[in-house]
Amino acid sequence: VIPGASPDDDGGDRACISKKTRLLMTLPYLAPVDEQLRALATTRALHLPGDDSHDTGSDEGLIRAILEQSAALAADVFAPLNAIGDTHGAILEDGVVKTTPGFQRAFRAYSEGQWGAMGVAPAQGGLGLPFAVGLAVQEQLASANMALSLCMLLSQGAVVAISAHGTAAQQDQWLPGLISGRWTGTMNLTEAHAGSDVGALRTRATPHHDGTHRIKGQKIFISWGEHELAENIVHLVLARLPDAPRGSRGISLFIVPKYLSDENGELGERNDVQCVAIERKLGIHGSPTCTMAFGDNDRCVGYLLGEPHRGLHAMFTMMNHARVGIGLQGVALAERALQAAETYAAARIQSPRLGSRGDPIAIAEHPDVRRMLEGMRATTRALRLLAYWNAAAIDASHGRRETQDRGSAQGLADLLTPITKGFASDMGVEATSLALQIFGGAGYIEETGVAQLYRDARIAPIYEGTNGIQALDLVNRKLAQDGGIHWRRMFAEMTAHLLDSPTDATVATLNAALMPPLRSLERSTAWLFQRTGSAEAAAAATPYLRAFGTVLAAYLLALQAKTGSRRDQRLAAFYLAAELPGATATLESLPNRSQTLLFAEDVSIEA
Ligand SMILES: Cc1cc2nc3c(=O)[nH]c(=O)nc-3n(C[C@H](O)[C@H](O)[C@H](O)COP(=O)(O)OP(=O)(O)OC[C@H]3O[C@@H](n4cnc5c(N)ncnc54)[C@H](O)[C@@H]3O)c2cc1C
Repeated sequence: VIPGASPDDDGGDRACISKKTRLLMTLPYLAPVDEQLRALATTRALHLPGDDSHDTGSDEGLIRAILEQSAALAADVFAPLNAIGDTHGAILEDGVVKTTPGFQRAFRAYSEGQWGAMGVAPAQGGLGLPFAVGLAVQEQLASANMALSLCMLLSQGAVVAISAHGTAAQQDQWLPGLISGRWTGTMNLTEAHAGSDVGALRTRATPHHDGTHRIKGQKIFISWGEHELAENIVHLVLARLPDAPRGSRGISLFIVPKYLSDENGELGERNDVQCVAIERKLGIHGSPTCTMAFGDNDRCVGYLLGEPHRGLHAMFTMMNHARVGIGLQGVALAERALQAAETYAAARIQSPRLGSRGDPIAIAEHPDVRRMLEGMRATTRALRLLAYWNAAAIDASHGRRETQDRGSAQGLADLLTPITKGFASDMGVEATSLALQIFGGAGYIEETGVAQLYRDARIAPIYEGTNGIQALDLVNRKLAQDGGIHWRRMFAEMTAHLLDSPTDATVATLNAALMPPLRSLERSTAWLFQRTGSAEAAAAATPYLRAFGTVLAAYLLALQAKTGSRRDQRLAAFYLAAELPGATATLESLPNRSQTLLFAEDVSIEA
């Protein structure tokens, strides 16, 4: 029976929950607070230059208390609504988007708990906690209910963008509602003909005599574009001004609210923006994916955010925040899938032990199932470390230390962001697929809830810039940034950590095993760096990103094993043994891969 499916606050006929839903199993979720605290400590110990978030960021008692409270919200309020969100996803009726029964109550619990204010500066009414801590909370919510947590992720992104690019008056008008959780935010980039190629978008913004703009156009696939959970929705919309240059340099960003408001945030009349359709889709059914019509009646009011024609730059503030958050969805679903798989594999009895005629045993004991479980454990832990490291670098880039230190932290964050997004979201899909495999036939049918995790996870490699686009961003922009200083510095620091003579023999072995793959990664990076912008680099980009992610994952596991238990060391050793040979082979094969793909007539298969 699904708790949280009460008709209380969602009203109407949707309150009638079908018999089928009641039969669905609610996968339990227990937030891994200790594991999260360890990951925060490990990534903080990387001593990022410019990191002065230690006052709040290293107060373990405070962080533990926060994570235990958010764990309760995730487990008791968000998780029980996950399966019902899948079967009773959002629907559009007479222009109104009705969300899953129970979501209203969960949203209220989130707002009343002031969870949206955690990472916000105290001057703006927030708690000023590091982004890395906020990410740990977000992980729990996404594990519990990815579809609903997406709403919170987008709202936080809107806060970041308006804080960075809004005028003082705009911040006063729009931030309090978003921070308090009375309002939510969205990001509106995609149009039918402009997906990855954002520069092709056609939505128009015409200056109005009162200093505002009139927005006209249609956006598709807008997550949480319309709903009734919050009093207002603040859409951040990319559009073109009349004098805009062609392409991505001619795009500006606008605040377009669902309800207009005065400077004190008092709500007025409805703006000329509406949801005209929502999509039927593979997963995250609880999240309405909306087609949004702006200005059908020529009176859609928008307010320029940041400078004209610099909208993509401003939107990137939100997108970079969101990209780490989407990578984190991979971590979150890997964790939830792991918990389900561990429970099931311990309980499912099937086949005697290999070579024995005795009683059947739990499948968790069969070597092949152990392989899958151990792989999931190592991957989930490594992905978490990667995402938190990325967040710690973002925190350090906002620190108060020397400008140069902030710059190197920013460079590290920029380098890590496409890897976190691309690698962690892909691995999240793999982890949910492994869980499904461990469940066998029971995983493929809907009643166990594992199939939902697999379907939900599949969007993360697609939205917020497909993983193909992340890989191009990595090889063409992030490696080239500041003459390549950031990857050189990263590899130098990794080498120094690995050479930092460990006293423990197992750790020394792990570190030694990491050196050759790290050198391969360095060589491949130099090869790509010399080919920035070329077809060869583009053809190698995705396998390179994956191999890069694998080497970083192995490095982070080895780093954590240094201060960890024997169990941690065994887990790291397993990941290194299972994953590094493939990553090294991929890296070594990159030039030949590109050659055979692009210049097929000259195919040479290297021995
Ligand atoms: C459920 C859902 C929620 C979403 N939420 C939002 C949202 O809130 N806001 C928003 O603005 N958008 C949203 N999107 C849109 C999403 O960001 C886009 O779908 C995504 O950016 C890809 O664009 P596209 O679908 O047009 O694919 P395309 O751009 O057509 O890409 C198709 C394939 O071609 C590849 N490709 C395209 N161009 C290149 C290139 N230059 N080089 C190499 N490969 C390339 C891509 O990697 C991909 O594999 C959402 C989408 C979905 C499905």
